[in-house]
Parts: sequence; C-alpha cells; structure tokens
Amino acid sequence: MGAKAKLQQEIRQLAQQKNAIIFAHNYQPPEIQEVADYIGDSFGLCQKAQQIETKVILFCGVRFMAETAAILNPDKRVLMPEPSARCPMAAQLPAKLIQEAKTKHPGLPVILYINTTVEAKAEADVICTSSNLCTILDRLKQDRVLFGPDGNMAEYARHICGYDVVPIPDHGFCHVHVTFSFDPQIMELQREYPKAKLLVHPECDWDLQSRADLIGSTGQMLEYARKSSASTFIIATEVDLTSRLQRELPQKTFIPALKYAICKAMKKITLEKVKTSLLHDQFHITVPESIAKRAKTAIQRMINLTTSTETNSA
Ligand code: SF4
Repeated sequence: MGAKAKLQQEIRQLAQQKNAIIFAHNYQPPEIQEVADYIGDSFGLCQKAQQIETKVILFCGVRFMAETAAILNPDKRVLMPEPSARCPMAAQLPAKLIQEAKTKHPGLPVILYINTTVEAKAEADVICTSSNLCTILDRLKQDRVLFGPDGNMAEYARHICGYDVVPIPDHGFCHVHVTFSFDPQIMELQREYPKAKLLVHPECDWDLQSRADLIGSTGQMLEYARKSSASTFIIATEVDLTSRLQRELPQKTFIPALKYAICKAMKKITLEKVKTSLLHDQFHITVPESIAKRAKTAIQRMINLTTSTETNSA
C-alpha cells in the first residue's frame, strides 16, 4: 500500500473512532475528495449539514463553509483541518458596506452569496448559492435587490434571472474565476473539440457565461454531464471539479478550461492536516451566538425558499 492510501485508510479509521463525518467541497484536491463521506457544492453541503447524526463534522473547504455548518448545527463539533483557509472574495464585503448600502437604498432586500463572512450574513435577508440564485429571486418577488459580493453573479442575476440588481461592493470578484475571461485557450479548446459542451460557473465574466451550454454551480455541472448525451465537456471553474467529474463519469471526457485556475485557499487542506485534525480534535470552528442567530435566519430562509414553497417578501 502506498503512503497516500495508508494515510487515507488511517483517516477513515479515525473518522469512525471519533464519530466524525468528512465533508469536502468540489474544489478540494482529489486525495481529499477520495477520503470524504460527502462531496458537494455549497448548497449541497448546507443541506447535508442539517441531516447528519455524527457528533463531529470535519469540514474540508474554506472557512465560510465550516462556519455555515457550525451555524446550522450548534450542537455538533465542527472542525477544520486548516482554519486559515479563507475565501478572498468573502473579505471583499465587510458588514459596514452592507449597512451603508441599506441606508442608501432603503427598503431593498439584501441577498448575499454564501461566500461571505458571518458578520455580513447577519446583515442579509436571505443567502443564496450559485445553484439557487434565480429560485431565490423568483420566490422573493422583488424586482430590485441589493446583492453581493460577486459582480459576475450580479450580471447573471440580471441577464439570466431577469432582476434589477444593485451590487455591493461595486466590483466584487473571485480571483480564480475572473482569470477565464482573458484567456484565448478556451476558444482554442472549442476549435479542437467542436462537439464539446462548455460548462461555465456564474463567477466567470458575463462574456464567457453568454457562450456557455450551461451556466451553473459545480453540482449542476455534475448533473448536466451525467444526463447529457454529449461525451466531452470543457469545464470553466476551479480545476479540481474536473477530477471529480472524471472519477464519477469515467466514460466521458472532461477538459479543464484553464489548468491553472486553482483556488489556493482550498488547497491549504492536506491529508496530513485532516489526520491531525481528527487525532487532536482541532480546529474547532465557532460563531458568536448573537451573530450566529441573525446569520442563521438568512441561511435558513435560503433553504426554505429553495426547497419549499415559501414566497413571502423580504
Ligand atoms: S474559488 Fe473563488 S470564490 Fe471559491 S473559495 Fe476560492 S476564491 Fe473563494
């Protein structure tokens, strides 16, 4: 047995001993995905976090994801192998900017992308993910909303969902997904594979979104590829989604649109750190109760609006 397989086996044994479930986001490195109990996009992980029975959730992803799991599960112990793994986009929207936007645009509901700090979430009426933004907007029944922090998702909300969106901040972005906009390699790939379907994440710029066969979350990309009769797909999102797609659908071909579209924050999680985390019961992710209570209302509202028929206004 190789060193990697041995480490993975030790992690699985430790998870069982500690009554822990391992969550991994789709952007985690393949060796982490392989050891996880559940792999998903942000919304899938949120839903799963409400259904588990183990005492411990070990979260392999970035900090806002672990905090969301902690908010939804105050009676569970949520651990992160590397607590400094933070989404840089979340830092672009401090709570103060939202408060200022509310003052400037009184009465507009605040929809925030899940890639935000807990302090920002506490200012929101409802949270959304890349998989449910249009559903949330449709069910809120408000023509105009405040939305942040991702400017390209704001474009998606305008063009695809059909709503008037006031962005906060003016130009929020994911540094990984904006790299797709200026690389001619995608067009070269389309020439090389003319029958390939182009799947694009809504954090990419609108010009690229408008050329996609599917604009969607990582979970929606997996579903699309599973059901599609096409055999080749060009994937415009963080590179490690491609490894999951290829592992789960080996009869199809997945080509990363850009091989260097790597989220360094996601790659801070390693097998060694996962083992240490389980072994030493670290690092415990907690959210102060007063903030958690307000943030939970907005997160729970997203879950209700997405999975049920709640339609009341913000
Ligand atoms: S890919 Fe972008 S939005 Fe996602 S965690 Fe990394 S920096 Fe944040």
